[in-house]
Amino acid sequence: MALRETGDAQRSRAVTVNGRRYALPTRTTAVICYDGCDPAYVEAARAAAIVPHLAQMMDEGFAAIADAAMPTFTNPNNLSIVCGAPPSVHGISGNYYFDEATGRETMMVDAEGMRAGTILAALAGAGARVAAITAKDKLLKALANDLDGIAFSAERADDATLAQNGIEDVTGLVGRAAPSQYDPDLSLFVLDAGVRLIEAGRVDVAYLSLSDLVQHSHAPGSGGANAFMAAVDQRVGALIAAGATVGIVADHGMNDMAHGDGRARVAYVADALDATFGPGRTRVICPITDPFVRHHGALGGFVRIHVTDAAVDPAAVLAAVGAIAGVGRVLPGAEAAAEFEMPPEREGAAVAIAAPGYALGAHAADHDLSALAGTRLRSHGGLAERRVPFILSRPLNAAYQQKTANLRNYDIFDFALNGVV
Ligand SMILES: [Zn+2]
Repeated sequence: MALRETGDAQRSRAVTVNGRRYALPTRTTAVICYDGCDPAYVEAARAAAIVPHLAQMMDEGFAAIADAAMPTFTNPNNLSIVCGAPPSVHGISGNYYFDEATGRETMMVDAEGMRAGTILAALAGAGARVAAITAKDKLLKALANDLDGIAFSAERADDATLAQNGIEDVTGLVGRAAPSQYDPDLSLFVLDAGVRLIEAGRVDVAYLSLSDLVQHSHAPGSGGANAFMAAVDQRVGALIAAGATVGIVADHGMNDMAHGDGRARVAYVADALDATFGPGRTRVICPITDPFVRHHGALGGFVRIHVTDAAVDPAAVLAAVGAIAGVGRVLPGAEAAAEFEMPPEREGAAVAIAAPGYALGAHAADHDLSALAGTRLRSHGGLAERRVPFILSRPLNAAYQQKTANLRNYDIFDFALNGVV
């Protein structure tokens, strides 16, 4: 981990992480990863006048649209946010990757883990009291990497121990039992825990990572989406009232990927390639695939294509993928890694990015659409879900007013710690 203190007694203390300098907070700072919060959710909720605290942040603090890291999935972006760096630096560019040497699919976060340190761990190492709270337990290990502080998931809040998580009796702290993984309260539980810890003066920096369960099944402006926006807004108000500087960013947007009649609009890339080259010659990896999650049927806007038979010409595969209706863009894996700042060793022959309104899958038989339970498919992963909100509760200082071009979601800690008045 690239951690050092500046050693300049005249300046505030700071740490350097992955080449960027972060001041230790002089005020409590809470960064929220508002999972799946497409800018359209914010616009619709503002238009309905149900998010007064968010509106106040946008009017009196700072609000912009930033780019998420590619692919626009949850794990790569959460890790980019806490590392302040793209996936090419921290190494996690999806949930799964295909190891061409062994022919096995491997979970990325569990494999050899991350190869970059986090801002959270560095701040804690320099003496800040840090809490990392996540809705889903699967993210906790990576977010809490080397972190000497409080770290727990809402999903397993009841199991948190002082030794393992730096905190115990989370149920008592929040005042209710840990919600299930498919309960929208999972995200609100994360926020309530952050509010209680900050109100009690127990942390200096909090990272609060929500779940996109609601956005996967509710369109912007719908009753379900607006109710959730309003509930989150209440907690945002409580964080600000407790004296925190609040930064809000999303890991990715969210788009409808269904036909007018409600059927999912999916291009099955592996079926098309099998028809052209024969079965087993290529391998399509859907890096959104998640053994713990049912609400997107492992369908998203981004897939990787590996050539597993040396007799198959990668250029022919690229051409065949490009001809599939619903593929918006196809490019060689190495080019995709360079353009989108992804680790090149995880790429195969090609990357395919969905056209807006489409999802990409492998074989139709691989995807359980019954899991959508009759709701329209809404998902993410491609360029259409790259735009995310970037909102701060305080205005930018003069230096950071000059740094707002080409904003990335993983600039949020930089701005929240270094960039506000
Ligand atoms: Zn997400």
